[in-house]
Amino acid sequence: MTNELNDSYDVVVFGGGAAGLSGALMLARARRSVAVIDAGSPRNAPAAGVHGLLGHDGISPDELLARGRSEVRSYGGHVVPGEVSSAVRDGDGDFRVELADGRSVRARRLLVASGLVDELPDVAGLRDRWGRDVVHCPYCHGWEVRDQAIGILASGPMSVHQALLFRQWSSDVTFFRHTMAAPSGEDVEKLAARGIRVVDGEVVALEVAEDRLAGLRISGGSLVRLDALAVASRMVAGGGFLAGLGLNTVEHPAGVGEHLPTDAAGRTEVPGVWAAGNVTDLTAQVGAAAAAGAAAAAQINADLISEETQDAVAALRNPLPVPVATAR
Ligand SMILES: Cc1cc2nc3c(=O)[nH]c(=O)nc-3n(C[C@H](O)[C@H](O)[C@H](O)COP(=O)(O)OP(=O)(O)OC[C@H]3O[C@@H](n4cnc5c(N)ncnc54)[C@H](O)[C@@H]3O)c2cc1C
Repeated sequence: MTNELNDSYDVVVFGGGAAGLSGALMLARARRSVAVIDAGSPRNAPAAGVHGLLGHDGISPDELLARGRSEVRSYGGHVVPGEVSSAVRDGDGDFRVELADGRSVRARRLLVASGLVDELPDVAGLRDRWGRDVVHCPYCHGWEVRDQAIGILASGPMSVHQALLFRQWSSDVTFFRHTMAAPSGEDVEKLAARGIRVVDGEVVALEVAEDRLAGLRISGGSLVRLDALAVASRMVAGGGFLAGLGLNTVEHPAGVGEHLPTDAAGRTEVPGVWAAGNVTDLTAQVGAAAAAGAAAAAQINADLISEETQDAVAALRNPLPVPVATAR
């Protein structure tokens, strides 16, 4: 990455994952000056490959984003390593963005594409295996763990749903109740009907052998053998910079985390600020995040065109007086 950062841009993008880079690519191709500020921690970094992305299935997350950065730069866009620490609207209507390293930059519009953080259950050994044999999304990893012994660690309101989903990829699925209430009513029936065993007791640790998940240790000492474990993380979007803009994340209606609400076009409630990708759509995969970034970018470009046209019409109606040369 280069460090080149001008004083001001048409658009500054917060985050250089699939959403931010895709938005920046559209804007750079629309002949807008654009800078992406990226802290460099995309959500899927622990995974070996990006799956289900047409034309790129299995590409490493690093490689996909390296290609994206190079595409943005090839049209004159800037992609800069750094962390946005605050952003405010100045008196002239533009935004002033401060980076954690002390630099600052101005922008006419902002695209927030800073992703989310996966909060994982506090079970010994779990975080180390995240994105490898501890997974969350069957569309990202289901094929890779097909026909294996898959456990579901209950951790939220969607855990029964997650167990029923993973059952599509394997007939050997076990639901670990862990610290959650026992499934009730129809859920008990659904799990039983699909042949999903329910194990009671708190899971205290993951057992690992030869750098592979071997099973789950339950309080009391018993071990249940497993090849893969699915966990529903709590997905939390946010960032200290939101407050200065007057934006707040809210609890997602499905109870699975916190997100930044937008309208269908990615517009936040603050004029001039758009958002795309996981920061607003917690369930977006890479393709959906990239598509949302591109769609928001087109809206931002249209908004700038509208402002520029309005200014041009005002100038046409009220031309500035031409200075008259005075005789000596
Ligand atoms: C383990 C795992 C595996 C996955 N596998 C797949 C898969 O196989 N296929 C698939 O389609 N999807 C997969 N996903 C989902 C995928 O990660 C997301 O769809 C995608 O990352 C969303 O892109 P994004 O641009 O919204 O966010 P991100 O990719 O998370 O990018 C956000 C970027 O913003 C940066 N950032 C955050 N805060 C700031 C700040 N203040 N200033 C500057 N930069 C900031 C971050 O460092 C990061 O680089 C997986 C997810 C996980 C957790």
